Amino acid sequence: MATQKTILSGMRPTGKLHLGHLVGALENWVALQEQYQNFHLIADYHALTTNIDSSDIYQNSIDMLIDWLAVGIDPVKSPMFRQSQIKEHTELHLIFSMLITQARLERNPAVKDQVRDLNIESVTYGHIGYPVLQAADILLYKGDFVPVGEDQVPHVEITREIARKFNAQYGAVFPEPEPKLTKFARLPGLDGADKKMSKSAGNTILLSDSPEDIQKKMKGAVTDPQKIRRNDPGRPEICLVYTYHLKFNTTEAPEIESGCRSGALGCVDCKRRCATRIIETLAPIGEKRAFYETRPNEVTAILADGETKARARAEETMKEVRNVMKLG
Ligand code: ATP
Ligand code: MG
Repeated sequence: MATQKTILSGMRPTGKLHLGHLVGALENWVALQEQYQNFHLIADYHALTTNIDSSDIYQNSIDMLIDWLAVGIDPVKSPMFRQSQIKEHTELHLIFSMLITQARLERNPAVKDQVRDLNIESVTYGHIGYPVLQAADILLYKGDFVPVGEDQVPHVEITREIARKFNAQYGAVFPEPEPKLTKFARLPGLDGADKKMSKSAGNTILLSDSPEDIQKKMKGAVTDPQKIRRNDPGRPEICLVYTYHLKFNTTEAPEIESGCRSGALGCVDCKRRCATRIIETLAPIGEKRAFYETRPNEVTAILADGETKARARAEETMKEVRNVMKLG
């Protein structure tokens, strides 16, 4: 029995990563790998829920793996693997799909939001069921903790329900995983403090954006509508730029706050200073990404190694599952 607790978390390879992914999840993955056994899943099957065109899926998976390495995930400590390459995910998904009702899945607020945001007209069977596949992703590795952003908490709850149901019916195999949130579990996007930064909303700063792009994007960020001219007093608590200062410019944040409130600091300066700090944060990540981009063989070797380690753990769990279920 492993005494070290297990972390399981993943992302869909659907495009470039942004600051929300970094502060909501990735920074936590990096910090937690010192203390826990981390597994990180490239959720390529999950990518199909919102786009059945799989022609870019391999390249997107590799690009995301490079981003993960660039932010500091250590491939020796934290196996990284593609869900599609470990067949046990689909097997456990099928078993779990008998342990949850259709009504429960239809109540899931996260899928409802996604369907609304992406203007999906009719939801597929696979899409409505994706929290069940996610439960299989987590429980196959017996994840104790799931470091995710706030939007994913309802899914972890579904995973807990499935684990309880399975354990009660067949025997205690699975832990009941808990979400692990960061201080910025819902980073706002550039279009307003109440909106989550999200690829589909087009309100992102990408980890791969150039310094010029970042300055330009920040210039367009929505601020307090009551602060029109430089000397107007502002309300930092409702301003997304101030949230970014709190995260990326901690030492200057108190000064920014009082300058904004008194009117001494204008939005143009405030945004420029904020962009500069974000650029500084992303610079070493960009350098590391460039390092791996020129070493494709090293990257595929890291993936192969991660998949070997993940498969071993997944096979072990499925053996236990079949055993307690008297299957085979
Ligand atoms: P997006 O939500 O940007 O369209 P996606 O749906 O492909 O992208 P997710 O799988 O939702 O990506 O996100 C991966 C992880 O990053 C999840 O843990 C999620 O909670 C976290 N995350 C995404 N956006 C944010 C954000 N704005 N703030 C905090 N965490 C976030
Ligand atoms: Mg999302």
